[in-house]
Amino acid sequence: MSHQSNGILFTNGRFFNGSTSVAELDTSMVVKNGKIAYIGLASSLEAKIYEDSGIQKQDLDGHHILPGFIDGHMHFLMLGQSLSKVDLDGCANINEIRKRIKKYAEENPSKERILCMGWMHSMTEGEAKASMLDDLGDRPIYIDSKDLHSVWCNTPALQEMSVQEMPDPAGGTISRDSSGRAEGLLSEACVLLIVWPYLAKVLPMEEKVAALRAAIKAYHAVGCTGFIDMAMDENAWEAVLAFRKAEGGTLPMRIAAHWCILPGSGEADRLAQVERSIELQKQFNEKMSPDLRILGIKIICDGVIDACTAALAQPYTSHPSASLDPIWTSDMLGPVVKKACEAGLQCALHAIGDAAVHNAINVLEKYGEANQRHRVEHLELTAPEDAKRLGELGITASIQPVHSDPAILRAWPKLLGPERVKRAFAYKEFADHGAVLAIGSDSPTAPHAPLQNLYVGSTRKSARQTGAGDTPVNEHFKLGVAQAVSAATRGAAYSCFAEKRVGSLEVGMEADFCVVEWSGEATGLLEAKVRETWFAGKQVFQV
Ligand SMILES: [Zn+2]
Repeated sequence: MSHQSNGILFTNGRFFNGSTSVAELDTSMVVKNGKIAYIGLASSLEAKIYEDSGIQKQDLDGHHILPGFIDGHMHFLMLGQSLSKVDLDGCANINEIRKRIKKYAEENPSKERILCMGWMHSMTEGEAKASMLDDLGDRPIYIDSKDLHSVWCNTPALQEMSVQEMPDPAGGTISRDSSGRAEGLLSEACVLLIVWPYLAKVLPMEEKVAALRAAIKAYHAVGCTGFIDMAMDENAWEAVLAFRKAEGGTLPMRIAAHWCILPGSGEADRLAQVERSIELQKQFNEKMSPDLRILGIKIICDGVIDACTAALAQPYTSHPSASLDPIWTSDMLGPVVKKACEAGLQCALHAIGDAAVHNAINVLEKYGEANQRHRVEHLELTAPEDAKRLGELGITASIQPVHSDPAILRAWPKLLGPERVKRAFAYKEFADHGAVLAIGSDSPTAPHAPLQNLYVGSTRKSARQTGAGDTPVNEHFKLGVAQAVSAATRGAAYSCFAEKRVGSLEVGMEADFCVVEWSGEATGLLEAKVRETWFAGKQVFQV
């Protein structure tokens, strides 16, 4: 139905124009050959000509029409795989965690291993030992922390990965007991270097392809037509290519990716990884592969605040002896960023703590050009001076409002102290000083649905636990609702050099959009519902 060559005339919708949240109702849009052929007054001569041409019509019932959302920061294969993991989100303690795992194990007797997600250190008071899981059965159990910066394993999982025989990898910690034996928790680089490669090796390709297919379906159902994978590696890339092949060479999603550079064994190793991303970018760029692109590199400069692994300028208030060092020192960052910039690649630097943000901006200032659209990911704690520099240097602020949900930040006032916590998630300040905002979800570390994400971004209230009565997190940093929608569409498109094709509803743009039942206000975003999603003029989701 949706591929009529005459096109389709959409009437009676509220088309988002970038600045108002409730655009006028007397607007029509014509979609033809996968692109927007007309958008403007329903009463114009041009609209009348379309109407009289016998074109197919769709009445939009007064719903909002937003550009297809582009998730500015996500993890494609992991999201797909997480869709079949045991979700521990919302567990209050170890007993609830064990109960959920036990139930899943009983219901899935043929699964070779039990993969879980959504655990937070605070649920188990910071403890994560194999012995807390070992009586649940003989199968390996892997529990991803919500932030994906650590994995808690039972003894069979430690055994199958041969962790006991391993030294700590660079940038990673294997938690050990007093006799040096691995206890179950693997943190930071261990996740990237030990767990993911192992699971990538043992999971069959058809399972990975099925996971990618499930991820795209889940994205269509929430109004997304594009995303940026923020830690692409050989394993995921191989699966994405196999998936594209299985789909007949085209994808129903506009995908761009940053290649993840690991600390590795030294500078030569790191530069070789950059070399690999340069090579891939030559094949998968705007000209040769517009909907599956490698944009540049990703570097995970520090950890996360909850695990006290984010690099801060001043000690953690609750853990004054925790190390403040970043995973990537300035000395490590310099040569890698320099090489990427010289090759014209985009750099995306994960920086959560204020010290990591400061280092990241410094290195981009030193080697990058504003027109290369470099970006800093997360920006959870920033000094006022650094919040200002983003815009001045043309650095995109890649933000994930879902991470600022008050329900998951209850430990922060203790971790950071009551004064410093006032600097958390200074989104509005980034924008006020001229930075382009690109909103993402960082799924599967957080839910991928954009409307809920935008709710948190524009109210700073909880989308997870709406009735819990948490105070909004630094409410003065909230975004305007139209500003938030723009950051999740046009801003995210800009961040990956795609704003001329997608991200706004204008003539000549790809017809990627979603139909949303919504009041048009920030407070209404939680109840808002995506009714339809269209990709390149074709309906890919309907309620
Ligand atoms: Zn991420």
